[in-house]
Amino acid sequence: MIEIQNLNFEYPGVLALDDVSLQVEKGDITALVGPNGAGKTTLLRCIAALDTPISGSICINGIDVLSHPREVHRQIGYLADFYSLYGQLTVEQSLRYAAMAHSIAREKISHAVQHTAQRLQIEDRLSHKVATLSRGLTQRLAIAQAIVHEPSLLLLDEPASGLDPEARHALSELFLALQAQGMTLLVSSHILAELEEYSSSMIIIRHGKIIEHQPLKAQAGQAVLVRVETTEPSPRLTALLAEQPTVEIVESDEGYCLFQFKGDKQTLHSILSILIKHDVPVYRFGEDKINMHDAYLQKVSRLKQESPA
Ligand code: ATP
Repeated sequence: MIEIQNLNFEYPGVLALDDVSLQVEKGDITALVGPNGAGKTTLLRCIAALDTPISGSICINGIDVLSHPREVHRQIGYLADFYSLYGQLTVEQSLRYAAMAHSIAREKISHAVQHTAQRLQIEDRLSHKVATLSRGLTQRLAIAQAIVHEPSLLLLDEPASGLDPEARHALSELFLALQAQGMTLLVSSHILAELEEYSSSMIIIRHGKIIEHQPLKAQAGQAVLVRVETTEPSPRLTALLAEQPTVEIVESDEGYCLFQFKGDKQTLHSILSILIKHDVPVYRFGEDKINMHDAYLQKVSRLKQESPA
């Protein structure tokens, strides 16, 4: 979906992107994380064909961004970190305006506006003035404007800043719904907890360099980590698990076991049934997700040890 090779971008006296290469797969939600000034906005703007790098290449769906920026604009939606809407327009007028800006044919505009408002669950606000919307609804409208032309890729720069926890959670659900409808998302943020709710992979950028790109959720067919805990020590726990062909023990003691599992839900259910049948007092049994916050801090602290400057 996105293929970037050896990208360099310079502001006067600042190398904001330093030999960036990465790939984003179709259907992923990728979190772009890094400290202030790391280069997140610059990278998103280059992908969106809004800034021109000094060297390197960016392809979206096989189209070269630098030589075909207008074609790329049809395929992407972009929400900037700072944007402004017209407060005196209604939600419907704003969406119509965005549809026209995206060159949607006149006869298709009404359908595009209705459909997008439904996707963003703001169809009951179409007649409301933008200035009267809450922060969360304003954010939804801004995203609606960015996707009114049905792009396959959505780039979002700090989309949750200024939102309360409820609105943030609603935004996470929205991103997952867009992903389920086939969209690919690249989302930059400082707020790791929020990204964790929906991201399938994480890119860490620091001083303009990509220092990590790792999956956060197991892909179909990949092994997952499963954690089991018991109410009291049970010598049989690890022995029973070790007998299972789909299980590879990672670490364990008498009241706890972490194992890698490769199989389907039914097999996992059978393993739990075996433990229960043998009176192992299980109170916790489930997938152990990679914690994004820990993964980020571990990587950054390793890097600081390697090169303190
Ligand atoms: P933040 O999280 O604070 O938004 P960021 O990761 O998005 O930061 P960028 O805004 O891409 O980082 O900035 C990357 C580097 O480029 C920083 O050192 C920044 O100071 C510099 N920079 C950004 N915009 C400009 C500009 N218009 N002129 C000069 N330098 C700039």
